[in-house]
Amino acid sequence: MSPRLDVDLAAFETNLDALRTRVAPAQLMLVVKDDAYGHGIARTVPRAVAGGTRWIGAFDVPTARGVRDAVGPDVRVFVWMLPTPGDVADAVALDLDLGVGDASLLEDVARAAGEDPVRVHLKIDTGLHRNGFRPEEWDDAVRRARVLEERGVLRVVGVWSHIAEASDAADDDARAVFEWALDRARDAGLDPQLRHLSASSAAYLRPEFRYDLVRIGAFAYGVAPAGGPTSHDLALTPIGRLAAEVTDVGDVVRIGVGALHGLPSTLAGRITVTTPDGPRTVRRIGLTASAVDAWPRARIGDELIVWGVDEGQTATDLAERIGTIGEEIVTRLSPRVERRSTAGG
Ligand SMILES: *Cc1c(COP(=O)(O)O)cnc(C)c1O
Repeated sequence: MSPRLDVDLAAFETNLDALRTRVAPAQLMLVVKDDAYGHGIARTVPRAVAGGTRWIGAFDVPTARGVRDAVGPDVRVFVWMLPTPGDVADAVALDLDLGVGDASLLEDVARAAGEDPVRVHLKIDTGLHRNGFRPEEWDDAVRRARVLEERGVLRVVGVWSHIAEASDAADDDARAVFEWALDRARDAGLDPQLRHLSASSAAYLRPEFRYDLVRIGAFAYGVAPAGGPTSHDLALTPIGRLAAEVTDVGDVVRIGVGALHGLPSTLAGRITVTTPDGPRTVRRIGLTASAVDAWPRARIGDELIVWGVDEGQTATDLAERIGTIGEEIVTRLSPRVERRSTAGG
């Protein structure tokens, strides 16, 4: 009796439709790192593509391979974590779009190119310092990329960056750096058609951050930002719902979900679960089971909702109680949790 994550694919498609409409004419890239934020690439990506999504953000090559396995060659797949030349060679073989943010990687890409030019998106570091060419490196980077472009080994199809989305002022500063980098790229003779800067929050809330393409993860799965607007406010539906069963009934009721399934033990005493008799507080969270306040006529096999669609009990609501973010709650669900698609999946 393992816990189960129900993934509502109809809600997923509705979220994607709403987001696509909102960000148009920018295109939407669905980000699927951490196995589609815990919801499963194999079930979510085919649905997204069937609904019209043309870009998948895959983080690294193993994830991109999973995407290609799920939906084949007809979508653009963007990767930005390429730690070894082997990863670059694999990325070229899989016909991926490559995010490139340092000089040695740019040379690795040039060496790995086959007959067709590799599609490259140059990354400018606009202040997050995760990776990306720093502004003082940018002129050399765009000049070198232009040389390699003229040799026919690559094509700079995009310029991009990643921003914190924690304060509007910091994001505005980052955008100014981004604009500067675009000007310098054009001065170097590049013609990037795909400018992308924003993830979920900026894409949703700030039109001037959308450019040509937005990279959306959390909001597509209905995961709202901690401390910000709720999924209800955003008119998005959480697509995942974690359910568990009663395994023992006594002074307390034991349910079959615990820390090894990915439920943070620090949530004990801070959350309720939805039982057939209404909400009950979770008192202890063990490795594979947890103790919940009893209710009349509780029976082994009764199903409870741990987190899911309801206001007050979303993954983000749980996250806020322990000072983290909803993504952390959904992505830490372990493979021990059975996944099931609902609503047409
Ligand atoms: C994770 C990630 C995103 C998506 O972020 P969300 O806030 O989940 O939408 C976009 N771009 C990059 C580079 C990322 O790592």
